[in-house]
Amino acid sequence: MWLTNMLYSSFGNKCPKCHKGNVFKYNNPYNLKHFDEMNTECSCCGEIFERETGFYYGAMYVSYAWMAGWFIVTFTINSFFIHAELLHYLIFFFVSILILSPMTFRVSRITWLNFFVKYDPKKSKCQKNEALNQNIEN
Ligand SMILES: [Zn+2]
Repeated sequence: MWLTNMLYSSFGNKCPKCHKGNVFKYNNPYNLKHFDEMNTECSCCGEIFERETGFYYGAMYVSYAWMAGWFIVTFTINSFFIHAELLHYLIFFFVSILILSPMTFRVSRITWLNFFVKYDPKKSKCQKNEALNQNIEN
């Protein structure tokens, strides 16, 4: 259950707490001018994404794990199905890492955030916005 929640949140740019608000300002990771811009807090549940200075240094280890997984998957596929020479495979691997790096950056940060923030279905009703709307009405 945690794994599916983490994967949904990480690959969908969604808040780990409510799965509604976006973590990064722009959904497209290949918008290279803005790919690293994060919202300070969730627009739905108010979860704070800028937790403390240096918090996202831990995402580097997550990035390493994701890339190790990518290596294992692609190396296995190459070994059993494609049978490309090692040099050709390595060129493919390093080019694919470069191409995937904006995506890896984002997925790693949200995955790291998922280690500390658990999914709460009750928060998915955007209580923050409802509270704001009630304040505006009153
Ligand atoms: Zn949220």
